[in-house]
Amino acid sequence: MAHDLVSPGRRLMARLDEFAAFTDDPPKLTRLYLSDAHRRAAARYIAWAREGGLEARIDPAGNVVARYEGRRAGAPALMIGSHIDTVRDAGRYDGALGALAALATVEELAARGERLDFAIEIVAFGDEEGVRFPKTMTGSRSLAGLIEEGALDQKDAEGVVMRDALKAFGGDPERVAASRASGLAAFVELHIEQGPALEAEGLALGVVSAINGASRFDVEVRGVAGHAGAVPISLRRDALTASAEMILAVERRAREENELVATVGRLDVEPGAVNVIPGLTRFSIDIRAPRDERRRRAVADIAAAFDAIAALRGVALKLVQTHEASAYVCNANIVAGLIAAVEAIGQRPRLLPSGAGHDTMIMGQLCPAGMLFVRCKGGVSHNPLESISAEDCELALAALTRFVRDFRAG
Ligand SMILES: [Zn+2]
Repeated sequence: MAHDLVSPGRRLMARLDEFAAFTDDPPKLTRLYLSDAHRRAAARYIAWAREGGLEARIDPAGNVVARYEGRRAGAPALMIGSHIDTVRDAGRYDGALGALAALATVEELAARGERLDFAIEIVAFGDEEGVRFPKTMTGSRSLAGLIEEGALDQKDAEGVVMRDALKAFGGDPERVAASRASGLAAFVELHIEQGPALEAEGLALGVVSAINGASRFDVEVRGVAGHAGAVPISLRRDALTASAEMILAVERRAREENELVATVGRLDVEPGAVNVIPGLTRFSIDIRAPRDERRRRAVADIAAAFDAIAALRGVALKLVQTHEASAYVCNANIVAGLIAAVEAIGQRPRLLPSGAGHDTMIMGQLCPAGMLFVRCKGGVSHNPLESISAEDCELALAALTRFVRDFRAG
């Protein structure tokens, strides 16, 4: 192949730059599921795959998939890849890095005529971010056989039904729910970290131990509104000061435990006047941990602390759960293989949980799955300032390729 003069990592970086031009909203990078930009990006991906001798296609759910056969046709496959949709005003590495690195890995094998004991399937999922339609991860859910009833009837903000958008894109809505992949030995995703841990430790690569589960609550605290001048402090039932204690209790509980995070991201105060004691507050809590039992314990502790604070301050408390997602503990063999690959290219392996959700947690319900993280500048993601270095890109690709070469199906 003619690209041998350029290192694989540099070539991947150049492709990521080129790929970022597929946007629905220039000069920003916004590439929503089944949009025109998604269609053009998928076409480019397919064209690159064909240049590398791979037959790539759009699957029923709008994912791009391609298969690189092993030594014998029909062998179980290792699937690698990530998503090519983005958030609005996105960076160019979230998702695209893993999807294009999968392609680069197979190109490298194909260029050398190297066949393995298993096939490799590469995938560019269409819908990880869930920006256009309410539900998320339609692409991986389809492959994992986890499409929910009515998912295709979802509408976007313009009233376009997913079923129609999918048909126009070249997918096959009738087959989305019946497209569960068979013969997959494992799934592995390379992705930017989207957090600051690797950079803080001076490490290029991380192996994901688990994808955090999450619990979310809406909290309502009802006290008694009153005159800010006339009601003595000792006689108040101030909903906001009670809430402040509760919010600090959330933070305190999260601090007690490594890898547990808890956030109050929204707080509304009523009546919200300078001279009125707050009578009512509403706030949100988001609690995440790499193990479900750890998250549930934290939730129970926080609820108990809230009850105690409410009783002491004479306010009424209402706690309503709004979301619950289980953690995905990455497959132990995949984790071990990724650690070995990172070590084999001379890097120190670091295990870390993923705070963000990924297609891997869906694919993990179909087959053994795991993730490799690469450091991103400042931990910044979902932002046009997202950035990785060419050196890290090189290392990530080398580790992924090494993992693939050393992988043993079954
Ligand atoms: Zn992503």
